[in-house]
Order: sequence, then structure tokens, then C-alpha cells
Amino acid sequence: MHFYSHPRFQDHSMGSGHPECPERLVAIEETLKARALWPQLDHQVAKSVDIGLLELAHAKDLLQRLTLPVAQGSYEFIDPDTCMNAHTYEAMLLASGAVLQAVDAVLAGETRHAFCAVRPPGHHAERSSSMGFCFVNHIALAALYAREKHKLTRVAVIDFDVHHGNGTEDILANEEGVLMVSSFQQGIYPGSGTRPRGTNMVNIPLQAGADSAAIGSMLKNHWIPQLEAFEPQLLLISAGFDAHREDPLAGLAWTEDDYEQITDALVQVTDTFCPGRIVSSLEGGYCLDALGRSVSSHITSLLKPLVLAA
Ligand SMILES: [Zn+2]
Repeated sequence: MHFYSHPRFQDHSMGSGHPECPERLVAIEETLKARALWPQLDHQVAKSVDIGLLELAHAKDLLQRLTLPVAQGSYEFIDPDTCMNAHTYEAMLLASGAVLQAVDAVLAGETRHAFCAVRPPGHHAERSSSMGFCFVNHIALAALYAREKHKLTRVAVIDFDVHHGNGTEDILANEEGVLMVSSFQQGIYPGSGTRPRGTNMVNIPLQAGADSAAIGSMLKNHWIPQLEAFEPQLLLISAGFDAHREDPLAGLAWTEDDYEQITDALVQVTDTFCPGRIVSSLEGGYCLDALGRSVSSHITSLLKPLVLAA
């Protein structure tokens, strides 16, 4: 499977002590290497997105604002938790580019699945606003790109980050040919999601402490039936790993084994409707050790060979 990365993803920093830190990617790489998964990946170098394509998902005013130069060693604050350094803009373009490259690759049949180990993340970025550690929304852009460029008519987005993907909902609500299925902890940042903004939004709020039992129920009763009814041609995953019980920013009780279980279920659905068409992109996950283990579990599932029905 394709694994997209770029050294520039580690140059974007929001300052010492910020949880969305370059060390997250180091932790992922080290764990994948320790578990001998790294050599099994088909490593791809991310390329910058064509800037014009960002207008599929974002307002020109926002994109213009993000081009403002930031001096070396300085930070330009977007909100109290989110700021740009001199490398953020380039990293952001490479991150979106990685996800679109991955879409092209899975649709061309070059790889069964793809994981994009990108920073900054994207799912809080709305059409006209950057926020919540995110500047532009890679997964929402990928959904619209798959519809526009590849003429797909049924693109599914799964968002299992512990925080609601308000940005993805803002951009994709009521968009034809797109389904968004998400879970998130109710009552934490950004506070949205309990009232879906579109008929194509399936939002599953979870209570603090929700664990494997809640995941099993969510998969069986909501995610899988919705995906089966939709019959996706492509599955995009906003893969945040901050619902892990060790994560410092939230209060769910998932484990790395849960991420393998969830991914197995998603692979099974796509194998039925669109074998090998999963593009997963890193969102949150702030306990470095748990993040490494969780991404390894996710990738372990994505690496499993296709089992054809008898
Ligand atoms: Zn998150």
C-alpha cells in the first residue's frame, strides 16, 4: 500500500509544547519500523497540490490569507490554538497534494489502500475559516476532487477523530454524491455535530468513557448499514487517533486494537463495493506512544490481503 510523507511535514510547528507537534510523525515512523511494517509500505513522496484545486473546497479570501508570509522564527495566529510558521503554507499544500495523489493512485488501481502521514491536519478547516490546528481540509477537498476530476457519484467519508469534523461537514453538507459518517465525543471541541447540517451527514455522538462495546454497536447499527446502503465507489478516512484512552485531549476509552477492528470493518465494506479504494489521512492523536501504536494497528488492517468471496 502507498504511504505518503514529506520531510516538510515536520517543519510546520505551532511552537514548543503544542500537542500538534512534528514529533507525532516521528513516533509513527518509529513504531512502524519497530513492528516491521515500514518495509512493507510503498513509500511515496508528497507533491504540492495545484493551488487552483483548493478552491473546490475553500473560499478565495481564506486561501489568500494563508499565503501571507511568516518570518523565520515567528508565528501568525489564526485562532488561540492554531498558528502558522514559515513552513506551514508549504506543508499544507503538500498535505493536500498527498491526499489527492492517493486518490489518483487508488482509482488508477496502482495501490489497494493509501495512508497519508501528513501535517497539518485538516478536518476542522471550514470553507472560509482555518481553525483547530487545521488550515485547509484535505479530506473534504479529496471528496470534491474525486467527484469533479474522476466523475465519481458516490464518495463516502468516515471521520473517527474524537473531535467532530466540523470543517468537513461545513464543506460537504448537502453535497450531491457525498456521504459523511462520523463519530466524536459529545460536548468537547468544537461543540458541533449533534445537529447534522445536511441530509448526507450521519453523526454519532459518543459519551465520555465510550469503549469497545460502544464501537461495536456503532459499527453494527450505524456505520456499516449506512455505507452498505450508499454503495461507495471510494472511501476516504479522516483518521484521527485521539479517541485512544491514553490521549490527553479527550475522554474516550478506545485502544489500538479498536482501530484495527474499525479498519477491518471499513475494509470489508469497501471490498464489497469498491475493492482497494481506501484513502486514509492522519488527523488528530496527541499521546505520541498511543499514536504510534494506533496508526500501526490501522495500517496492519490496511495491509491485509484482499479475501475474495467464494
Ligand atoms: Zn481530534
